[in-house]
Amino acid sequence: KAPNSLSFSLQAKMSRPVQARRLEGIDKNIWVEFVKLAATYSKVNLGQGFPDFPAPGFLTEAFTRALGGGNHMLHQYTRAFGHPPLVKVLAQFFEKLLGRDLDPMTNVMVTVGAYQALFCCFQALVDEGDEVIIIEPFFDCYEPMVKMAGGTPVFVPLRPNPPKDGKLMSSADWQLDPAELASKFSERTKAIVLNSPNNPLGKVFSRGELGLIAELCVKHDVLCISDEVYEWLVYDGKQHIRIASLQGMWDRTVIVGSAGKTFSATGWKVGWVVGPNRLLQHLRTVHQNSVYHCATIAQEAVAQGFQRELMLYGKPESYFVQLPKELQQKRDWLVQSLDGVGMKPIVPEGTYFLVADISQFKSDVPDVPNSDEPYDYRFAKWMVKNKGLAAIPLSAFYSEGHKNNYTNFIRFCFAKEEATLKAANDILQKWKQEKTSS
Ligand code: PMP
Repeated sequence: KAPNSLSFSLQAKMSRPVQARRLEGIDKNIWVEFVKLAATYSKVNLGQGFPDFPAPGFLTEAFTRALGGGNHMLHQYTRAFGHPPLVKVLAQFFEKLLGRDLDPMTNVMVTVGAYQALFCCFQALVDEGDEVIIIEPFFDCYEPMVKMAGGTPVFVPLRPNPPKDGKLMSSADWQLDPAELASKFSERTKAIVLNSPNNPLGKVFSRGELGLIAELCVKHDVLCISDEVYEWLVYDGKQHIRIASLQGMWDRTVIVGSAGKTFSATGWKVGWVVGPNRLLQHLRTVHQNSVYHCATIAQEAVAQGFQRELMLYGKPESYFVQLPKELQQKRDWLVQSLDGVGMKPIVPEGTYFLVADISQFKSDVPDVPNSDEPYDYRFAKWMVKNKGLAAIPLSAFYSEGHKNNYTNFIRFCFAKEEATLKAANDILQKWKQEKTSS
C-alpha cells in the first residue's frame, strides 16, 4: 500500500504548474531553433550575428597576458559592478563621446554582455502595468524582457518608403511616422527602447529622428533604453549620434554597449551600461541580486583594449576606424551578390546585418495557405536545408500582431571572412542558374 499512496501523492504534486506565471507566452526563442538548424545543415552560416574572423591581436594578447601574466588576483572576484580598470576607461571614453564628466563608480556598470545589461534595465525600471514603446523591427529579446518585468510592450513600426528612381532601398528609407509615434505615448508609458544602429535593418537614426523621440520623452517624462551595441559600425561617412547627448536626455537615458560587437569577440560576453546614477543605482540592485559579478580576466582584457583605443582615438590605426572600413567592403560584396541574383538587398547604413527581399524566389518555396508559420520562416528553413545557406527570417523581429506584414524578407550577417561571403555568393549564383534553366 505504501508505495501506491506515495506515487499518488507525487502525481498530485506534479499536476500543479511548475513554472512562474511571468514565463507564460515567452517560451519560444528564434535563436534556439535557427542556431540548431544552422549547426545541422548550413555550409555557409550568415544567420546569427557574430564574426567568423579573429578578434584583433591586441585584444587576445591582452587576454593571454591577463591569464598568465603573474597577477594571480585576476583569477579571483573583482568589483561587483565592474572591474575598476574597465569602468575607469569606459568613463574616460564616454566622457569624450558625450562631452560630460562621468564617475566610473556610479555612471558605468559592467554586465554579462549587452543582453544582461538589457535585462537589468527592464527589471530595474519597468513596473507592473507600465507600457514600454518598442520600435519595430527590434532585437527580439526586448519583448519577453518587458513582459517578464510585468510591463506591456507597445509597438510602433518603421515604415518602408521605397525609392521611386529604381535605386536599391536603403535602411534610411524605413522611417517612423511622427504622428503614429506620438500617439503611442501616454501617462502609462515608462520607457522607449531605441536601437541605433538598428538590428536587423541596419538603420542609423538621424539627428532629426532622434530629436523627435527625445522631444516626446521629455514631454511625457519617459525613460530611454538606448541599445547602442553597434555604435562603431556605421558606413558611408554616416555618424552615430547618441540620444543621451541631446537636450534633456542624459538624465533619462541608459546607454547599453557590448565589447562583443565592439571588439569582434561576442563569446566573451562583456557588456556595459552608461547613464546617470539616479537610474544606474537601481540597475545595480538587480545586478547584485542576480549575476553579481562578471568574469575578471575578460574585463581586464577589454579594459586594455579600450586603453589602446583611447590613445588611438580617431587615428587610422584605431580598431574603431578600421573595423567599419572592412565591414563596409563586406557589406558591398553581399549587396552585389544579392542584387546580382535578384534577392533585393536593403542597403544598411550600419551594423553587420543586411535584410533582403525574397519575393523573386517564392516560386522555389511555395506558400502554404493558413499555415501558422510565417512564410519567411519556412523560406529560411528550406534555404538552409536545401541550399546550405543560413539566414534569419525578418518577421522574427516583429510582434505577433505585425509579423504577417513582413514575411518577404530574410536577414543576413556579413561580419564574415571574404571566403565565407564568396561561398555564399557561389550558392546564390548556382541557385539563380538552376532557376533560369528550369
Ligand atoms: N542588442 C542588440 C541589438 C544585439 O544585436 C545584441 C546581440 N545580437 C545584443 C544586444 C546582445 O549583445 P551581447 O552579445 O553583448 O550580449
